[in-house]
Amino acid sequence: TFRALVIDKDGDSQNVSFRELQTSDLPDHDVLVEIEYSTLNYKDGLAVSGKGRIARRLPMVGGIDLAGTVVESRSEAWNPGDKIIVNGWGLSETEWGGYSRFQRLKPEWLTRLPAAFTPLQAMAIGTAGYTAALCVDALEDWGRIAPGEGEVLVTGAAGGVGSVAISLLAAKGYVVTAATGRPETHDYLAGLGASGFISREELAAKGGPLQKERWTGGVDAVGSTTLANALAQTVRGGAIAACGLAGGADLPATVLPHILRSVTLIGVDSVMAPQEQRERAWARLARDLDRTKLEAITRVEPMSNIKALADDIIAGNVRGRVVIDVNA
Ligand code: NAP
Repeated sequence: TFRALVIDKDGDSQNVSFRELQTSDLPDHDVLVEIEYSTLNYKDGLAVSGKGRIARRLPMVGGIDLAGTVVESRSEAWNPGDKIIVNGWGLSETEWGGYSRFQRLKPEWLTRLPAAFTPLQAMAIGTAGYTAALCVDALEDWGRIAPGEGEVLVTGAAGGVGSVAISLLAAKGYVVTAATGRPETHDYLAGLGASGFISREELAAKGGPLQKERWTGGVDAVGSTTLANALAQTVRGGAIAACGLAGGADLPATVLPHILRSVTLIGVDSVMAPQEQRERAWARLARDLDRTKLEAITRVEPMSNIKALADDIIAGNVRGRVVIDVNA
C-alpha cells in the first residue's frame, strides 16, 4: 500500500485525510506513474483547506501537479522509465491528482520532463511557474511590450506565479514593477529582477476608470480592484494577462480603458491549455529561468505538512514556490 491525501464528504462539508491505497484503487487510466514530487499552488490551498469548491467529484486525491516516472503503460506514446510531468487537466477537480505515491493517468495529460530540468526543478516551477510562462508568451504575442521600454506590472509578486513571472520578464530585459503586500520581500523580489515596487494596498484601493497611463503590460494573479486598476493604468494599446483571483474573483471595472485606449485583457488558463502551448511555455522556462533564482524561490516540504501549508498559502504567507515530497 501507499499513502495518498484524500478529500472526501463529511456530511455537508469536506474531510481531508491520509489514506493507504493500493494501485487497484486508482482510476482505470492507461498510464501508471510513480510520483516523486507534487507542489502547492493557490488552488491546492483552496482544495485542501476547503475554502474553495475545487474537488467536484469525491472521494478525490488532491494535487494539481506531479512529476515522476512511468511504471506501466497501455499507451504506445509512453514506456516504463519515461520521466514525465502533469500540470492541471482537472487533477484535484474531476481527476485524481499528485498527492500520492502512485497515480493512473490518461496518456494525453502527460508532458515529457524537459531535459533541462530535474523532477524537483520541474515541480519548483509547477503550475504557478508554467502559468507565469503562459502569461509572458501571451504578452509577447500581443506584441506591444518591448525589452527596456516602459514598465511591466506583476501583481501578487511574492507568490508563485509572481516570482516566476518577474524572473522570466527580467531575463528578457523588461523593466518590471512588482506589486506586493509584503514590503519585507522587496530584497527577494529585487534579486529576481524587479526594479520598482508598488504596494498591494495602493493597487487594490478603488480607483477611477481611466488613470495615469503607466503599464505597457502586466501579469495579474490577484483580480478584483487590483486588475481593474491595472487596466485603468495601462498605456494605449497595452495588455494585461490575467490568470488569478488571490484578491477576489470579481472585476469591478468599466469598458473605458478598452474602448478609449485599446487596452486588452488577455485571459490565461493553464488547466486545459493544449500541449503545444505547454511545450512552448516549458521551452521558455528552460531557456530563460535562471536556475539559481529558481532555487532561491523554492522550498521542499513533506506531504505530511500539507494541511498547514494549505492554510498558509490561502492566508498569503507563502513566498515563492513550495515543492511537496509525496514520500515524506
Ligand atoms: P500564491 O503563491 O499564493 O500567490 C498569490 C499572491 O497574491 C500572494 O503571494 C500575495 O502576493 C498576493 N495576495 C494574496 N492574497 C491577496 C489578497 N487578498 N489581495 C491581494 N493580493 C493577495 O498563489 P499562486 O499559486 O502563485 O497563484 C496565484 C493566483 O493565480 C491564484 O489566484 C491562482 O488560483 C491563480 N492561478 C491561475 C492559473 C490559471 O490557470 N489561470 C494557474 C495558476 C495560478 P504578495 O504577498 O506579494 O502581495
